Amino acid sequence: MMPSGVVLAIANQKGGVGKTTTAINLGAALAAAGQRTLLVDVDPQANATSGLGVDKGRVERSVYEALIGQISLRDAIIQTDWQGLALAPSAIRLAGSEIEMVGMMAREQRLRRSLNEVVADYDITLIDCSPSLGILTVNALTAADGIIIPIQCEYLALEALGQLLSTIGLIRENLNPRLKIAGMVMTMFDGRTNLAQQVVDDVRGHFPRDVFDTIVPRSVRLSEAPSYGRPILAYDPASRGATAYRRLADELLARLKS
Ligand code: ATP
Ligand code: MG
Repeated sequence: MMPSGVVLAIANQKGGVGKTTTAINLGAALAAAGQRTLLVDVDPQANATSGLGVDKGRVERSVYEALIGQISLRDAIIQTDWQGLALAPSAIRLAGSEIEMVGMMAREQRLRRSLNEVVADYDITLIDCSPSLGILTVNALTAADGIIIPIQCEYLALEALGQLLSTIGLIRENLNPRLKIAGMVMTMFDGRTNLAQQVVDDVRGHFPRDVFDTIVPRSVRLSEAPSYGRPILAYDPASRGATAYRRLADELLARLKS
């Protein structure tokens, strides 16, 4: 059975670990594999939005308007230039919702309710989270069936995971019992250093079943692609980064089927 209506949050409160790079490129690779894919950008930095070629300063209907109930999420969704990949864009004003939602009823469930109207239209929905465990990330984890955790291959990679795992535990207990760890993906692997391999071994040792076999290499091409507003599959389809994200998509699909 192929997945349908699966929602996966891409989260890690540590900044700059490859969440957005993974959201864009895994999303593009899933679409290339025939999955109807939606990427929901819930980070006020709106890097997934701009990385897919959408001018974040000109977005009029964003996830923000949907969360505060002004519009339906469906009316925020746009098709990207990459076939099969749709985007619910963010906007800088989403930052204000952290404060605005404090007084709202069921504030942790607003994204889930917005998504309910559209998830059936997609096989897979990915949610790109900001580097925090604030109310927007809590909304993403409450709406999700699973979390994908990008982990940068660097010193102390494991330290930051403790807080994230305890948050996942709290979300399961209080808001979303079905939340699973869909996988951990090691990113920015630099094969020239021993440290990178040590970090991979270390994280695998702790989470043998969670870590994906696919490791995303450190690659300048991956870091360049967003400034052209394109996924790596469009910008440099033969690159190592593109190959890694295609493999990661295959691995994820195999996990979702089993
Ligand atoms: P934030 O926490 O700010 O949202 P993030 O976790 O979304 O950050 P990214 O924006 O994906 O992280 O990546 C951080 C930086 O590292 C970006 O400049 C990105 O282009 C670069 N980067 C990400 N993955 C790779 C990679 N595999 N190789 C080289 N550069 C990468
Ligand atoms: Mg990001």
